[in-house]
Amino acid sequence: MKFNIITIFPDILNSYLNESILKRAQEKKLIKIKTHNLRDWTSDKHKTVDDTPYGGGAGMVMKVDTIYKALCSLKHKNLPTGQAGKKTKKQKVILLSAKGKTWNQEMAKKYSKINEIIFVCGRYEGVDERVKNFIDEEISIGDYVLTGGELGAAVIIDSIARLLPGVLGNKESAIDESHSQPGILEYPQYTRPEIFEAGGKKYSVPKILLSGDHKKIAEWRKQKMKNK
Ligand code: SAM
Repeated sequence: MKFNIITIFPDILNSYLNESILKRAQEKKLIKIKTHNLRDWTSDKHKTVDDTPYGGGAGMVMKVDTIYKALCSLKHKNLPTGQAGKKTKKQKVILLSAKGKTWNQEMAKKYSKINEIIFVCGRYEGVDERVKNFIDEEISIGDYVLTGGELGAAVIIDSIARLLPGVLGNKESAIDESHSQPGILEYPQYTRPEIFEAGGKKYSVPKILLSGDHKKIAEWRKQKMKNK
């Protein structure tokens, strides 16, 4: 699966996306992540990507023309004929936005079936409203406002990548994880030490987990899985 990220800060995500599970997934060619500098599609010497808002108001707004050019060159199917590249049925464009639909595990599952996602990361006061004509979905990662869409793109890539075959090893299996079924949260996990002491108190691991009785442990875990 391919992830293209359109941003004015292409380096911002590199350390996160190129470590650990996501790094291995890229090395194994299970996913491909490419960041694109939106300024590469500007034509003025200052590489301008934003302008003042019509009607006045605070801050700057990201220009529709530059984002449109970027999407055209990344071959998006929804663009007017003649401008877009080859149609790809399983390619989606996501605009990161505090006003979008809130991302969740069900959406991650749905999106894990497609071939490619192009992310448009806003900055400043956001993007010109007309960008919405050229995207498939406007997505928020929660009811708060971030400085830019890059963290949202990382959250979405991470949550999808974990669901792709071969990305997680057995040790990191997604099967029993929280939200693998809607509303269900994973059972509690413990590791050494068996008894942890702090502030004069002892915190013990539940005895059942030390019993070696796998059937009983499975029952206990099932019982402890919570409904959200
Ligand atoms: N003025 C906008 C508003 O009130 O909705 C907020 C703009 S925000 C400072 C700049 C960019 O950050 C947005 O264009 C979007 O790409 C990203 N962003 C902010 N909050 C987000 C969220 N909750 N989820 C996803 N992206 C977000």
